[in-house]
Amino acid sequence: MSRIIAVANQKGGVGKTTTAINLSACLAEKNKKVLTLDMDPQGNTTSGLGVDKNQAENTVYELILDESELSECIYPSVMEDLSVIPSNINLSGAEIELIGFENKEYLLKSKLDMIRSDYDYIIIDCPPSLNLLTINAMAAADSVIVPIQCEYYALEGLSQLIHTIDLIKERLNPKLEIEGVVFTMYDARTNLSLQVVENVKENLDKNIYKTIIPRNVRLAEAPSYGMPINMYDSRSAGAEAYRYLAEEVIEKEDENEWL
Ligand code: ADP
Ligand code: MG
Repeated sequence: MSRIIAVANQKGGVGKTTTAINLSACLAEKNKKVLTLDMDPQGNTTSGLGVDKNQAENTVYELILDESELSECIYPSVMEDLSVIPSNINLSGAEIELIGFENKEYLLKSKLDMIRSDYDYIIIDCPPSLNLLTINAMAAADSVIVPIQCEYYALEGLSQLIHTIDLIKERLNPKLEIEGVVFTMYDARTNLSLQVVENVKENLDKNIYKTIIPRNVRLAEAPSYGMPINMYDSRSAGAEAYRYLAEEVIEKEDENEWL
């Protein structure tokens, strides 16, 4: 069974891209066949997996506007078993171009439905807003992973995000669920990180991953080498954490198969 997971939070800088890259890579490391789709015009997931975003001619933009064949939009990454549908700055104009398109919320879904059976996981990195690109990602996905940065304003904006997910479930994609919340950039040296985790656990009635991603400088360095963390520094705390997260994601799916 293939699973499509969107990584979303309309806040910027919370660890969406880092999670999309490294969760994808750690799933591929476990011999899962993975496709990572970059829905953010910044293209950091694309370059972070070793694909040159400025050279890529067949991106998610061409894909949803029907200007390229689906097969042309799938690029190999630095890892075996991991492919990428890239994005770059061109995607920032997509929202305007899609005005008046029929079924514009389902453009991505209609493409992914054709290839989902080729993969175990399709991971979608969302842009930092609740725009049409994010809606396309959520309309195509089975579930959403929400990264939450361990900082003072962690809960801010979360209810709006949950409301959006509920609306999309109601109107566009009845099977959509919140796969889980993952804490990122946890700093064991501060009380604040711990307080944030406890506070969110108390206030949020959602699945929260046991894995907590630590603040780890190797995670911030890896993208500039075009590598996921498990290639850049396989023994780092960041690599270990994303491996655990990948295991949890796989476990959850196995559990669901028994239902
Ligand atoms: P988003 O996609 O939500 O905007 P990013 O994944 O791009 O967030 O992360 C924002 C910044 O924080 C990036 O510079 C990234 O390298 C850094 N970062 C993310 N997660 C960690 C972490 N666990 N430890 C250290 N730096 C991190
Ligand atoms: Mg990002």
